[in-house]
Amino acid sequence: MLNILIVGAGPVGLTAAIELARGGIKPTIIEQRLEPSGLSRAVATQSDVIDLLEPCGAGAAIRAEAVSIDKVKVYKKTKLVATMHINKIRKTKERLYGIAQNRIEFHLTEALNKLGVFVQHGVALEGISQTDDKVYTNYGGETHTYDYVIAADGVRSFIRNALGIEYDGFDMPDVWSVADVYAKDWPNPEEGKIYILPDGQIASAIPIETGRFRITSNTLNAIDTLPVKINVTEVNQQGNFHISIRQANTYSKGRVFLAGDAAHAHSPVDGRGLNLGVADAADLARRFHEGDLEGYSKARHAKGAYVLKMSELARGSTTCRRWRPRTLVYIVLKLIHFIPAINRYATLKAISNRPD
Ligand SMILES: Cc1cc2nc3c(=O)[nH]c(=O)nc-3n(C[C@H](O)[C@H](O)[C@H](O)COP(=O)(O)OP(=O)(O)OC[C@H]3O[C@@H](n4cnc5c(N)ncnc54)[C@H](O)[C@@H]3O)c2cc1C
Repeated sequence: MLNILIVGAGPVGLTAAIELARGGIKPTIIEQRLEPSGLSRAVATQSDVIDLLEPCGAGAAIRAEAVSIDKVKVYKKTKLVATMHINKIRKTKERLYGIAQNRIEFHLTEALNKLGVFVQHGVALEGISQTDDKVYTNYGGETHTYDYVIAADGVRSFIRNALGIEYDGFDMPDVWSVADVYAKDWPNPEEGKIYILPDGQIASAIPIETGRFRITSNTLNAIDTLPVKINVTEVNQQGNFHISIRQANTYSKGRVFLAGDAAHAHSPVDGRGLNLGVADAADLARRFHEGDLEGYSKARHAKGAYVLKMSELARGSTTCRRWRPRTLVYIVLKLIHFIPAINRYATLKAISNRPD
C-alpha cells in the first residue's frame, strides 16, 4: 500500500485523507494546531462540492445542518439592484449553502475517524526533501519516509516554500474585516446580501445558521460598514485579515502535490477558496487510486486559474472606485435582475466552479 503523508488538517487535508482512505489507502495526517480550529472562515459552500462529500457521509451531515441560501441580493447602498435566484437555476441541481467552516471540518473529521484515520494534532512539519522514489520529512524530532506527500498546509505553505515553488500574484494592501454574529430581526434572514458602497467599499451578510450571520467587508469594521443597521445580540468572533490573490505556478514537484490554499488564494468576495480546495483534494485522491498523478497539476492549475479569474471579476467589479466601470457594473446587474435567462446564467457562474 502507498505510504502517504498529508500535512494540514484544514478542509482540504481532511478531504484528501477521507478520499484516500475510502479507496483503501490509509494516509498519515499531521496538523500543527493542538486542536481543531474554531474559526468560521468559509461559509458559502457549493452543492457540487457537498456532493463530493456524500459517499463518506459528511455531505449529508453538512447539508442537514447548513442553511440553503435561495437568493443573493445585491444593493447599491440600500437600494436593491439585482436578485440572483439560486433556487431558480434550471437543468442543474446546483445550490449554495451557508455553514461555518469549523462545522464542515467537524463533519469531515467524523467521517475520517469512521474510516480508521485520526489526525495527529500538535505535530508541525519542519523539513522536507526528496529523491526519485521517496520523500523525507522531519517532524517530531525524527525523519519519516513516505512514497508521496500532499501539501494541504494553507496559504503560507511551508512545503511550497521549501520546494521553491513560485506563488505568483499579489497581496492586497487593504485590511478586510469579518464578524460572525447572532442577530435579531434581520430582514429575510435566509438570503445572502451584498452591499456595494461608495469609494470602492463592499459589505456582505451571509446566513450561517438560523439567526447567525457572517459579515465581511473590505473596511476595518464589517458591522459598522453595513448600510442597514443590524441588531447584533452576540458577537461570536471578529477580526481583520489581509488577502492575497495568488496561484502556485505548478501543483506538483516530484512526489509532492499541492492542494487548496497552498496552491491558490482568493478574495473572499464570492466564497471560492474552500470549494476549490476540496475539489482539488478529491481529484488528487482519485488520481492516486487510478494511477493518474501525471495530469493533476495541469488539470487543477487550469481549474484554479479559471476560478481566480472569476473571483477577481467579482471582487474588481464590486469594489471598483472609478465611476465609468461602476456604472457599467450597475447596468449589468440590472440586466441580471430583469432578464431571467441572464439571471440564471450569471447565478450559475457565481455559485459554480465549473468553466462550462
Ligand atoms: C474571512 C474568510 C472568509 C472566507 N470565506 C470563504 C467562503 O465563503 N467560501 C469558501 O469556499 N472559502 C472561503 N474562504 C477561504 C477558505 O477559508 C480557505 O480557502 C480554506 O480554509 C482552505 O483550506 P486549506 O485546507 O487549504 O487551508 P487551511 O484551512 O488554512 O488549513 C491548512 C492547515 O495546515 C496547517 N499547517 C500549516 N503549516 C503546517 C505545518 N508545517 N505542519 C503541520 N500543519 C501545518 C494549519 O495549521 C492549518 O490547519 C474564506 C477565507 C477567509 C479568511
